[in-house]
This record gives sequence, C-alpha cells and structure tokens, in this order.
Amino acid sequence: MNVLHVCSEIYPLLKTGGLADVTGALPFAQKQQGTEARAVVPGFPKILEGIGDSEVVAEMNTFAGWVRVLYTNYNGISLYVIDAPHLYWRFGNPYHDDNYHDYTDNYKRFALLGYIGASLAVGLDSWWKADILHAHDWHAGLACAYLRSFNSSVKSVFTIHNLAYPGKFSASHMYELNLPLEFMNINGLELYGEISYLKAGLYFSDHVNAVSPTYSHEILRSEFAYGLDGLLNTLNYHGRLSGILNGVDYKIWNPEVDDLIEHKYNVKNLKKKAKNKAALQKMFNLTQDPNKPLFVMVTRLTSQKGADLVLSALDHIVGKGGQFILLGSGESGLEYEFNQARNRHPSEIGIYIGYDENLSHKIIAGGDVIMVPSRFEPCGLTQLYGLKYGTLPLVRKTGGLADTVIDVNFTATDSKQISGTGFVFEHADHNGIVYAIDNVFSVWSEQELWYSMVSNAMKQDFSWDVAAKKYIDLYSSLY
Ligand code: ADP
Repeated sequence: MNVLHVCSEIYPLLKTGGLADVTGALPFAQKQQGTEARAVVPGFPKILEGIGDSEVVAEMNTFAGWVRVLYTNYNGISLYVIDAPHLYWRFGNPYHDDNYHDYTDNYKRFALLGYIGASLAVGLDSWWKADILHAHDWHAGLACAYLRSFNSSVKSVFTIHNLAYPGKFSASHMYELNLPLEFMNINGLELYGEISYLKAGLYFSDHVNAVSPTYSHEILRSEFAYGLDGLLNTLNYHGRLSGILNGVDYKIWNPEVDDLIEHKYNVKNLKKKAKNKAALQKMFNLTQDPNKPLFVMVTRLTSQKGADLVLSALDHIVGKGGQFILLGSGESGLEYEFNQARNRHPSEIGIYIGYDENLSHKIIAGGDVIMVPSRFEPCGLTQLYGLKYGTLPLVRKTGGLADTVIDVNFTATDSKQISGTGFVFEHADHNGIVYAIDNVFSVWSEQELWYSMVSNAMKQDFSWDVAAKKYIDLYSSLY
C-alpha cells in the first residue's frame, strides 16, 4: 500500500510542536510494517537546507505561481519538497512573522501544499502514486478537497492534531484556489461565511481521526468543537470519525540512548537521573538540593496549555519546598508573569523563554514532575516523554492526557506498593491543580513509594508500532 503524508512540518527538519514529532515518526513506523509511506512538505528554508541532494520530479505553473517539486531520500524516507521561494523562503516560524502576525498569503501557501499533495497522490511523480493520501491538520486540509475535485480513486484520511486552529480565510480567496466554486458551501469548506481548510479536511476526506480516543469523543461536544460539532457528529454517526493515540519515537525520546542529556539512565540506574537533576538545578542557578521535588514544564504558552493554572500555583509549590523550571514561549502576558514568579523566588524557579530542542531533553530528564495541566489536549506528547524519563506527569483529565496517565492510587500504600503513573486532576482551576500538587508532595515524602511510581511510569509502552498498525488497518478499511 502506498501512502502519502501531507504536512507542514516534519522532525527533525522543521518543528514547531507535536505535529512534527508525529509526521517525523509515523512514516518510519509504517515503513517498518511494510507500507510505502512518503511525505510532502513545503520548501521552508530549514527543510531545503536540511535535505541535501534532491532531484526535480515536476516543474509547473500553478494558481500560486511557478513551482518545482523536488524528491529526496531523507533518512530512508521518500520526501517530496515543494520549492516555491516566493511563498516559502521565509526564515523563522513557518506560519507567522516575528511579531506573531500570520502571513497574509497563508491561504495561498497552504492551498499550494494541498494542491501538490493531491497531485502527487494521483501521479504527478510519474514513478509513484498513492493509494491513500493522509493529510495532517488545517495546513493540509485542502489536499482532501483537491483530491475530491480530481475525481480520483485515491482515498483520503484527515488527522485532527488540534481542532482549535481552523485555518480560516476570507471567502473571496475561493476564486484564486482553482477549486470548484460549489465547494464554497455548508456542504463543503464554508464555515460561518469564510473558508476553512480544517473543515475542508473534515468534509472532503473519507475518514477523520483525532490523535486520541478521548479527544475524538470530546470534540463531539460544542465546548470543544469550535462550531464544527454538527459536522463531527455526522461523521461519527456514519462511522467516519475515530481516535488513534499518537506514539513516541523511542529512538529520540529514551533516556537510555538520548545524546542530548548529560547522564544516560534507565529504571535500574536512577542515580544517573539524579545527576541530570543536579545539572539542571545548576544550569538554572537553583538551590542544589536533591530532596526538593523539581516540577518542570515544556510548552507553548497559551491558555490551552493551562499555563495560567501553573502560575497560580507556583507560590504554593515553592512554599511546600518544591522547585519549578519552565521552557516555553508564546503569549507575552504569560511570559511576563513567569518571569515575575522567577523574580520572586530566584533560587527556586528557573524560566527560559524560547524554543530549544536540546534544552527540552535536559529538562524532561532532570525534572521529577512534568506539568501538563491543559484545558484541552488532543494527545499531548510531553507527558509521554515524562513517563519514559521517569518524570511523573501531572495532568488534567482531558483528551490524550486522560488516555495515557493513570492517577496515583493511595489505597495500597501500606504494602509499600503504589499504583499509578502520575497525578491527575479534573477541574481547570487553582484548587484543581493544587490538589494534584499536594498529591505529589504526599508521595514524594515517602521515597520508596515515589520510586515505585517512577518504575510504573518507565515501564509504559507508547511506541509507534501500535498506532502505525491502527492506521494501516484504517487505510485498509477504506478500499
Ligand atoms: P503541541 O503540539 O500542542 O504544542 P504536544 O505536547 O503535542 O503539544 O507537543 C509539543 C512538542 O513540542 C513536544 O515535543 C515538546 O517537547 C515541544 N516543545 C514545546 N515547547 C517547546 C519549547 N519551548 N522548546 C522546545 N520544545 C518545545
């Protein structure tokens, strides 16, 4: 079976979040299971600079100008890159400028991704065509619409990595996209008078999946659905919506082999984990004390991620003898508040505002608790990394967090056994998060119990094999 992944980022070439981790790992896992999985991405500078030698498989004039489609073999994966410098050759974030303003031609940049994705699926590269086009998030949503307009037998799957980003643009652009105008319809890509690339993916694909089972149910409710609950419920009714939990690439995220951390370790050698913690405390000029539980967070700073809940609880953490380190960037108000908290407790709180892949590994390895108190979370990856690194996740019970973290169960404490892999809370408010934080301190005060939970966590297996197999089963069901 031939599968073409259409996506806007792919690890390690270009990453702004979890999407890249997924698109960087899933095709490899699928290849190992005998599927010929390829990917197509826009030619952003980091991608073109990272791929090395390539060959031109197509050159043409399109609604978005002159375009070349390049082919390369990148680490064993066949990758197509859309070379259109007038649209993609911009440094920094692929979606917006340095002032966080979305590029005004995003509608064209990502329409082209969809158009080339669909064209490759039906044979633009004369050596290869796809049986399945697999589009990821709004950036790739139009691929499903173009494919439909080609009347091809290729089937499409659309994966929702985050429903909060609709990819909405003025309906006036419809005339520029080379799509049938009747697609601008409630039964099409129209969303409240505008066009939505996300809705195009939902409407025109043959199957939609969300990246965790719980999130796939939550988005049927209006408070999670951004006005798309009607369509999502219809898809669900017809058996066209499901949830497939993301996996983890344990070649990259595994403390036994991770070259980005100072001291590699495994569950039998947790003294080395303690050394990573000491190094981290030193790096952030925190009190060098192994007995203080170190809470960490690696995140985009948005209200989705519950960063404000963490802020509300920082004094509580420090008051109880804990420490906190943040690696994150995003909303300037949140960045400011975190820096203020550091100024209040400079020896117990460390803040790094920015995006730093290397540092993220060091922080996840060196922490004791990773905080992911999201208001909603399609899957979430950092809690999965935390489990593997024995850095117990503290999460809100939502989406993929609910599917992957088992709350501490105190009933077995007498026998010095304890079940659970982390700390879960329900209510997205100060009391909710403080409840989970207090549970952390309760377990921390009995280190034997703590290590029993760490051992539970490190034994969890969220490798990609399971998810890759589920996707292959899904593709097969569409023939
Ligand atoms: P999302 O994709 O919604 O941002 P996920 O938990 O699915 O959230 O994935 C986030 C990915 O981005 C993880 O690999 C995480 O380590 C990484 N990440 C987030 N913020 C940063 C940052 N400031 N620096 C480095 N890596 C980050």
